[in-house]
Amino acid sequence: MEVGTHDAHGYWIAEAGEPEPLQPLRRDIEADVVVVGGGFTGMWTAWHLTSAEPGARVVLLESDRFGFGPSGRNGGFCDAMWVSFASLVERFGVEAATEVGRAADDSIAQIGAFAEEQGIDCWFNRSGYLNVSTAPAQDGSWDGNVEAMEAAGFRDLPAELDRQGVAAICRSPAFREGLLYRQAATVQPARLAFGLRDALLEAGASLFEKSAVIGFEEGGGGVVAHTELGSVRADRAVLAGGAGMAGTGWPFAGRVTMASSHMVISESVPDLIEEIGWTGGEAISDCRALLNYFRTTPDGRIAFGWGGGRIAAGGRRRGTSEVDPSVTRRVIEHAVAYFPGLEGKRFEHAWGGPIDATASHLPHVVRFPSGRVFGAIGYTGNGVGPSQMVGRCLASLARGVEDRYSTLPLVEPVEALTRVPPEPFRWLGGAVIRAAIENREAAEMAGVPPDPISGGISKIPGLIGFHIGR
Ligand SMILES: Cc1cc2nc3c(=O)[nH]c(=O)nc-3n(C[C@H](O)[C@H](O)[C@H](O)COP(=O)(O)OP(=O)(O)OC[C@H]3O[C@@H](n4cnc5c(N)ncnc54)[C@H](O)[C@@H]3O)c2cc1C
Repeated sequence: MEVGTHDAHGYWIAEAGEPEPLQPLRRDIEADVVVVGGGFTGMWTAWHLTSAEPGARVVLLESDRFGFGPSGRNGGFCDAMWVSFASLVERFGVEAATEVGRAADDSIAQIGAFAEEQGIDCWFNRSGYLNVSTAPAQDGSWDGNVEAMEAAGFRDLPAELDRQGVAAICRSPAFREGLLYRQAATVQPARLAFGLRDALLEAGASLFEKSAVIGFEEGGGGVVAHTELGSVRADRAVLAGGAGMAGTGWPFAGRVTMASSHMVISESVPDLIEEIGWTGGEAISDCRALLNYFRTTPDGRIAFGWGGGRIAAGGRRRGTSEVDPSVTRRVIEHAVAYFPGLEGKRFEHAWGGPIDATASHLPHVVRFPSGRVFGAIGYTGNGVGPSQMVGRCLASLARGVEDRYSTLPLVEPVEALTRVPPEPFRWLGGAVIRAAIENREAAEMAGVPPDPISGGISKIPGLIGFHIGR
């Protein structure tokens, strides 16, 4: 099936309309805090810094353009972290997991309130997030999570739905039973990112585009971030470069694996959406490890993504992590299998982006030993909602303030992030495991047993303590 436009930046950025470019950093300047990376994490951090201390000199350096990375190209699922509650409990214990869960939950409302206050029309919709099973192997895959929430004493548990319950939200020949998390929302991510950028400019932060940080050092009672044409000397630094921080030379190197995810968006199909009853705008994903995720737009399109893109070597963010026609074909096959009414419809745009994946499948906030440098990484495909909470946390840490956010259990030393194998073994091993999981899940979807080699290899991550999926 043909795709109208296939590029790295994708539909949302085109729909939002590219903002006027900002100038690169061309001189040596000083700041209170320098933020490396202009995605949601960096921009939320800067927003909470400038909100708390309006006079603070906050400088953001972005290697490309603000919001043009994964933050402006994702599925727009603005989810709390309840889907990961069992993993949070496993890592931090019930009480601390509950603290993170509640802060992440609040983050959704805070994003909505920010958009409203700032007059940002980012299509914020408290739609809820439905997990559906699309094969017997996925049935009840959420049981452990619901049990963990029940054991922690939550009253407002996600709703378990039988086939009829799922069909009442959205009808697909592939859907079986499901679980509805009511707290989640959807957004148009690029509209939110560009609105945040504008709010920062208005608040007096200094933003520089096409200003990759190519050297970073601590010393002389501060930090210095060097770009090709200038530098920022600051008291504190926040590393928020996402996947870019996984490369050699950055303190997160060796603790993150680079996966990728790809999306397509259909032409406007309001009749189809009406016909399948998907009129509530719910965010939906299946329960595969290489998950398919999909949502609608206010103008009646279906956006469909798959987390099965290739593994990239080192901290590589470009190439097939962004544009991969063979993966895009698979995404379209999955979309048509779930929504046969899309057969023969036009897919107007396809795109992709890198996913920074940690072994825990959870984001990590790090306070580096000098107490001057902080950073976050590892959202593993779920950063839109949590990044606002993490931005609050990083801002409080950079200000040296002890509060609800700077004391979140997500704040750990960098050693707490499990090491991943060195290259080329990381890439090779990751590629083999990805292929095995894909084969196993394709067999499960077809209702046949997986071949024993794929079945065996796909168990390896679990055996060595890596969470794939939730
Ligand atoms: C296709 C796709 C779909 C996704 N869908 C969802 C979803 O539906 N819901 C969800 O919650 N999450 C989703 N995600 C993940 C989500 O987009 C991320 O978790 C989130 O955007 C992370 O934000 P960030 O600011 O940490 O990183 P980024 O958005 O990657 O921002 C980091 C920025 O830092 C810049 N940078 C890197 N290195 C340097 C350097 N050396 N100097 C200066 N700047 C640098 C980059 O150019 C980039 O702009 C998806 C991701 C992809 C790729």
